[in-house]
Amino acid sequence: MKLSRYYVPTLKEVPSDAVIPSHVLMIRAGLIRMVSAGIYSFLPMGYKVVKKIVEIIREEMDAIGGQEFHLPALNPKEIWEQTGRVEAFGDTLFHVKNRDYVLAPTHEEIMAFHAKGSLTSYKDLPQIWYQIQTKFRNEPRPRSGVIRGRQFLMKDSYSFDTSFEELDKSYALHDKAYRKIFDRCGLKYFVVGASSGAMGGSKSEEFMVKSEAGEDTVAYCENCGYAANVEVAQSVVQAAARNGKSENIKEIHTPNVKSIDELCEFLKIDEHQCAKSRIYINDGKPVLVLMLGNDEVNESKLQSIIGGVVRPAHPDELKEITGADAGSIGPVGFKHRIIADNLLKDANNMYSGANKNDYHISGIDFKRDVTNAEYFDLRVIESGENCIRCGSKLDVFKAIELGHIFKLGTKYSEALGVNYLDEKGEEHPIVMGSYGIGVERIFACFIEQNFDEKGILWSKPLNPFDVHIVALNMKSKLISETAEKIYNELSGTGLEVLYDDREGVTAGFKFNDADLLGMPLQVIVGEKNVKEGKVEVKNRKTGEKKIAELSKLSEIIKEML
Ligand code: ATP
Ligand code: MG
Repeated sequence: MKLSRYYVPTLKEVPSDAVIPSHVLMIRAGLIRMVSAGIYSFLPMGYKVVKKIVEIIREEMDAIGGQEFHLPALNPKEIWEQTGRVEAFGDTLFHVKNRDYVLAPTHEEIMAFHAKGSLTSYKDLPQIWYQIQTKFRNEPRPRSGVIRGRQFLMKDSYSFDTSFEELDKSYALHDKAYRKIFDRCGLKYFVVGASSGAMGGSKSEEFMVKSEAGEDTVAYCENCGYAANVEVAQSVVQAAARNGKSENIKEIHTPNVKSIDELCEFLKIDEHQCAKSRIYINDGKPVLVLMLGNDEVNESKLQSIIGGVVRPAHPDELKEITGADAGSIGPVGFKHRIIADNLLKDANNMYSGANKNDYHISGIDFKRDVTNAEYFDLRVIESGENCIRCGSKLDVFKAIELGHIFKLGTKYSEALGVNYLDEKGEEHPIVMGSYGIGVERIFACFIEQNFDEKGILWSKPLNPFDVHIVALNMKSKLISETAEKIYNELSGTGLEVLYDDREGVTAGFKFNDADLLGMPLQVIVGEKNVKEGKVEVKNRKTGEKKIAELSKLSEIIKEML
């Protein structure tokens, strides 16, 4: 490809909203352009990379027996209503005005639609169906360039099995394919246990890339390899132990004391003697959630425990439900459902709100005074806590999710009536799995892991081109003819070659663009070397330079690649 005819609009400056390296470099290198918040076009060189990623995914999906579909993005709303997901996706779902349609954010419903009435016998199963298609999600905060877009490409696959044991096999095949895909793309990633979120279902794991730009937080144990999204991560922490004889409960006046820290300060007590209260509304009903001290409620854990639609209560609801405002709420006398963190199970002589403004209660014995509480692990874990598996210290950091594999079970097949007949002629719902990979996220994460201050550091197999020829002065016939010859020769050996044949562009400008675009090798065609029948070959990543005789150039390039 000749750069003079190729649309690669490189830039020196980028819009101020581009902060993370991949976003900045994808814009600067002319790979993408924003059309509107969270909506991007891939320009020709960017799309070349997309196609390479897609091909790797396709090969590995085909290798596990996947069959490729192409489903419509425009879906009848009715089928989404049948699975309850118009509500579950909420504002993230794009609705089409004046029509009963939605733009699909994922395709469980439509794949189940195709399975229904056609995978009717155990003999038809198992199946793995996939597609690589545009998805639409009205993300509330599109950011980080293509990492969180409102429209993005996803490889989504779905498995259909007769039983959970068979589902385990389809899931394992996907796990294997995903590792191959990310390995082949040259990404450093790790796998964490995850929550199933709005998808429903049982086990799920995420493939993650460590990154400050990530919107997920994960816990990782260096010692044993335990890794989990904080949405589900557990750790070992000291529970509130029983402490002396249980005193009687007593109301104490605590004017203007709202937070746990203020309570500790006022009463000269430790936060581990306090139970913090939060009220949530679960499908219209109040739930009191109790945590030890300053521990945060993990809303994702709470959601999977109580199910349905869960949201924090609004301030005016608090007063109505408890008689008090935030900061004065507690379990004693609370009339509705109580969910408490495991750490509080045996606690006694505890302090909490009195459900009366400016009052707290002391002497709370959870075994005696909060008898209707249900106990679960509800904590957001923190860095430095002990690993649930081996006891070593956990590291907690930010990560970007590349892909997600779910054991869906029968949620969708039951909602949509996707059944098969077993050997005895008995009917059962098909057991499904669902598996997604973000194509743009592979692209952006590769750059996040491969760049320097000058630009991108591409390597095989995702690099748009293998070699970038820089002809320093196109006015010199010797240079332009030599560069043209090299371009034709190298292209003829099957290499993908980009040739900067632009006239009227300074050598410095060309060098900067070559470094910014970041092809693995640069062939620099300059007057002095060419006169001696030589050119310079530079490894973009290492900076290593070799002077190569023109007659041996392709060999040297093959070696250096
Ligand atoms: P996230 O937690 O980041 O919002 P998700 O859990 O909603 O993602 P899935 O529904 O599991 O995502 O989608 C499968 C894959 O699609 C994700 O692993 C991710 O790689 C990609 N993906 C999801 N949302 C976006 C988005 N808004 N922009 C780009 N890629 C996305
Ligand atoms: Mg996710």
